[in-house]
Amino acid sequence: MKIKQIYLDMDGVVVDLHTAFLANHGFVLTEENWPVGYKKGSQVMGMSQEEFDAPIMKAGATFWQGLKPYGWFEEFWQELNAIAPVCYLSSPEYGPGCAGGKVKWMQERHGEEFGDFVLTSRKELLAAPGCVLIDDTIRNLEKFEAAGGRGVLFERPWNTPGSRERAPHKQVLAQLKALATH
Ligand SMILES: [Mg+2]
Repeated sequence: MKIKQIYLDMDGVVVDLHTAFLANHGFVLTEENWPVGYKKGSQVMGMSQEEFDAPIMKAGATFWQGLKPYGWFEEFWQELNAIAPVCYLSSPEYGPGCAGGKVKWMQERHGEEFGDFVLTSRKELLAAPGCVLIDDTIRNLEKFEAAGGRGVLFERPWNTPGSRERAPHKQVLAQLKALATH
């Protein structure tokens, strides 16, 4: 298939949201200590979602702007762009601070004129033949595929129980290259 457009999730794929989320509650996340079978940080901490999210809601844009990219970010970004045009596709579900902080994060890395992003929780609206979504949330991929796009899972401990994959971006790049030649 010809890959015309790559849509790239941010949280859990290019930015290390989970480490920052859990640090708010004093949990030091490593690649090894995410409990097997857990999907959410609130589960890891044994908190309600509201309680878990409270410090994030309070911090606003600074929290999102300050999120650290994973070690593979630069290489992954360059390799993806060599395959097809890339557009960030990310959810603004934590309100205006979240949306504004994410825009600042992208502009810090790609320049003030950078506009290759869509902020929506309805990622499937962008689905079309030749369009690929890379995401760590299985539900997003299911909806994107049902709407006519192609989903590629970015493997992380919270979507693949027991995963200790240290180079998930390499798996994704190999899958994209295989897709492009079939
Ligand atoms: Mg994500």
